[in-house]
Amino acid sequence: VFVCFEGGEGAGKSTQSRLLAAWLQEQGCAVRLTFEPGDTPVGKQLRGIVLDPATGDLSPRTEALLYAADKAEHVDTLVLPALRRGEVVITDRYVDSSLAYQGAGRVLDVGEVTSLQRWATGDLRPHLTVVLDVAPEQGLGRFEGRDRIEAESVDFHERARQAFLGFAAADHDHYLVLDARLPVDEIAAAVRERVAPLLGQ
Ligand code: C5P
Repeated sequence: VFVCFEGGEGAGKSTQSRLLAAWLQEQGCAVRLTFEPGDTPVGKQLRGIVLDPATGDLSPRTEALLYAADKAEHVDTLVLPALRRGEVVITDRYVDSSLAYQGAGRVLDVGEVTSLQRWATGDLRPHLTVVLDVAPEQGLGRFEGRDRIEAESVDFHERARQAFLGFAAADHDHYLVLDARLPVDEIAAAVRERVAPLLGQ
């Protein structure tokens, strides 16, 4: 079973992915909790490049390719092997982040970014994507230091937000959208309710 958390900055994705992982472990599941970008050795270096403010401006296509490279390495060396071992894989960000930030955010053609992402991931799709929805002004307010992407304009982050919501609206079977302002426990309970029926798979 493959579950993703998506959404804007400061939405609480890492908290919720940890809570879900802990609950699954209590249920006796083997769990691999992971994140993008950067949870492989080469991914860590790519994360450094794309997020370091010192990198400065990048061509949007360069940026899309760097994130896609991180994703290919992540899927091939971490996600797929764990799924093949029968583990539940939970990732904090996946393909939708690329479509939202490199596609909608940078205003690249989302169809083209989708093709790139399909190639990079071998079209591995999650069983469920949880979108934690937060207004950019609110999510970004939670940060002190900002990385290269967090420092983008509110408009950039709003385009990404609308993209996440659009993907979810088009595919209710594979998405759960939750208001990130709800109490942490309430969000966690709603996530467990959607994940529980997947565990038989
Ligand atoms: O989730 P986390 O804060 O670790 O993400 C790191 C940064 O990478 C964020 O600023 C996020 O917006 C950015 N990002 C991106 N495109 C992706 C994945 C993450 O711009 N595909």
